Amino acid sequence: MSNPISRRGFFGKSFGLGAGLMLFNNFKIFSSGGKAPKIPVIITDHTNETGHNAMKAGWEILANGGAALDAVERSTNIVEMDPEDTSVGYGGLPNEHGVVQLDASIMDGKTYSAGAVACLENIKHPASVARIVMEKTDHVLLVGKGALEFAKQWGFKEENLLTDKARKIWLEWKQNLNQYDDWGAPDHLADRQNKTAKRFEELAFTYGTTNHLAVDKNGDIAGITSTSGLSYKIPGRVGDSPIIGAGLYVDNEVGAAGATGRGEDVIKSCASYYIVMRMAQGRSPQQACEDAMHMIINKYKKINPNFFPSEKFIALNKNGEYGCAFLIRDTPAQICVANEGGIKVHTGSVVIKR
Ligand code: ASP
Repeated sequence: MSNPISRRGFFGKSFGLGAGLMLFNNFKIFSSGGKAPKIPVIITDHTNETGHNAMKAGWEILANGGAALDAVERSTNIVEMDPEDTSVGYGGLPNEHGVVQLDASIMDGKTYSAGAVACLENIKHPASVARIVMEKTDHVLLVGKGALEFAKQWGFKEENLLTDKARKIWLEWKQNLNQYDDWGAPDHLADRQNKTAKRFEELAFTYGTTNHLAVDKNGDIAGITSTSGLSYKIPGRVGDSPIIGAGLYVDNEVGAAGATGRGEDVIKSCASYYIVMRMAQGRSPQQACEDAMHMIINKYKKINPNFFPSEKFIALNKNGEYGCAFLIRDTPAQICVANEGGIKVHTGSVVIKR
């Protein structure tokens, strides 16, 4: 989900780190905290109206006995189509050249299959292309021109993904990037004395991506992560979202996890894989998300103790329990959940409260 945040906003102060890295706890399987978990279930990090609509569509499939894989694809497609969302699919913020490049991955726990695309241009539904990579080839990841050619071969239409809204935001970024280049007002009209250029921190920069995880009535688990990646990224940059084990991981025996935020740290920490492995060792989805945050915080402790990347992790286990966490924020992370009990917003935690 789109989370406007200043580019440097994630450098916060160090406090609340006492919890440290949790030790492995091998023997407790799926402590439910007393609540009877339910399947089928589908969750997303998107808690806005589009997220609710996505859950409704995914739930319809699950409630009719459909597959988790179909449910997560349908619900992700709804978010990818939202022109107001500047972090996913159509309407996503472009790279530094003004080109929207999308990344997505899908994983099917039932068949232990995965597919992904990266730097895909002009195709509205990268998650669906990823599904075809998974189901119709023996590859896992296609990138750039090859991914586009592949999508067209399978009937996807090329479309302009840069909305006016996203183009204007990108132009504003360009105009304010450097007050000594030739973007912005002519030199003789610029008021450099009064620093008319905006501060970098004030420019729109979105962290955001969409994760969709589901367990169907047969207990099969599937997940998707889809994104337009970091705003104004260097063309060709690939984030965590299409990297299996980083932005997404699913294990039918355990559960699934998905990530949002600064992809570079999610890649280095293999965060989604780590969360699923923690659940396999008996941690609840909520605890496992927090464990992954502590793991990242601990990696930076000696290098730069004030560096806290902006991450959000969500997780679901095979019994239908779920959880979510922010690494650093002023409010706890939330997810939208659809199960027998209806569609609701669930509040998880924040590991470092600003
Ligand atoms: N994780 C995404 C990436 O690094 C971006 C985001 O979630 O904000 O591409």
